[in-house]
Amino acid sequence: MANILVYGLAHEGTVNKNSRGAVSEAAKVASELGGEAHAVLVGTNVDDALAQQLGAVGATKVWTVNAAEGVAQTAADAISALVEAQGYDYVVFGGGLLGFEIGAAVAAAIGGGITVEATELAVDGGRLVAKRPIFGDTLLSTSHYKGKGVIVARTNAFEVKETGGSATVESFDAPASAAAGQVTLKVRGEQRGADINIEDAQILVTGGRGLGTAENFSVADGLAAAFGSGAAVGATRAVVDAGWFPYAGQVGQTGKTVAPKLYVGLGVSGAIQHKVGMQSSENVLAINKDENAPIFEFADFGVVGDLHKIAPALTEAIKAKKG
Ligand SMILES: Cc1cc2nc3c(=O)[nH]c(=O)nc-3n(C[C@H](O)[C@H](O)[C@H](O)COP(=O)(O)OP(=O)(O)OC[C@H]3O[C@@H](n4cnc5c(N)ncnc54)[C@H](O)[C@@H]3O)c2cc1C
Repeated sequence: MANILVYGLAHEGTVNKNSRGAVSEAAKVASELGGEAHAVLVGTNVDDALAQQLGAVGATKVWTVNAAEGVAQTAADAISALVEAQGYDYVVFGGGLLGFEIGAAVAAAIGGGITVEATELAVDGGRLVAKRPIFGDTLLSTSHYKGKGVIVARTNAFEVKETGGSATVESFDAPASAAAGQVTLKVRGEQRGADINIEDAQILVTGGRGLGTAENFSVADGLAAAFGSGAAVGATRAVVDAGWFPYAGQVGQTGKTVAPKLYVGLGVSGAIQHKVGMQSSENVLAINKDENAPIFEFADFGVVGDLHKIAPALTEAIKAKKG
């Protein structure tokens, strides 16, 4: 029997979506392993209601640790001790910066193997395996673990599935290391791009790698501004991963699903993982210099050419039309 432990990151009374998705994914495979999905919440205000947010998505047991929330070393100490005390074989994190940091520390502490950016958990030969895209997401690799395994998911890769279940809740007294005692959380930073709202946009101008640089997002900004209120700027995963645009604006399988009246793709190839997030758009306009780009297969309007010439010309034409 192998139980899986999942880290639940909570803030101001809500467990974040990534953590809830990780619990759902762990619950999916736990029964195949003959075990259960458990979760651990670390914080000074963890109560039953918070724990039941994880019970509702598949955790049968939630451990609560009364220690500073959001401090990586504190959480890593607590989780490592819990793994040793309860004999967990696998620990899963929903992704995000804290997930990566805590996951790496836990793997080192428990002597386990680690897989980051996982997009799926599965069972092979009675053991848990993690799948992760490699080589620019063109291939899927499968990680097996000789002993204990730590899996950190790609952000939002795991779908949240409400089960309507509930969890038993138990507190765990975790020892804190000397290193953890030296860390104090002074201020919690806002996520970059928290003000981006692409889901409600009537017109969405989406920038892809074809823009060339982060600075060239000014081309997309200019076009969206010419369209006026109701228009917003989004991005493909390639440019989010490159740090050109905040994740909050990512369209697609591991980003947001949008359905604007008009979607404009600037230098977007139209990969399937992008398409699933925007295929409900009423009208799709694609500007791409490659006439064989997949996006032209589902675009309503297509312009083959250099976006750096076409998009500014379109911007000026819209401005002129609007007077
Ligand atoms: C599990 C998984 C989840 C994923 N989730 C997402 C997701 O949520 N969202 C997402 O977007 N992707 C996602 N991806 C990645 C996806 O497979 C593609 O890699 C990504 O969408 C490509 O982004 P892009 O179109 O910006 O870049 P590219 O594929 O590199 O395309 C750039 C395009 O720009 C064109 N171009 C270049 N220069 C110019 C120019 N001057 N003028 C006009 N056109 C030009 C090129 O012809 C090309 O078609 C995921 C992948 C995996 C495996």
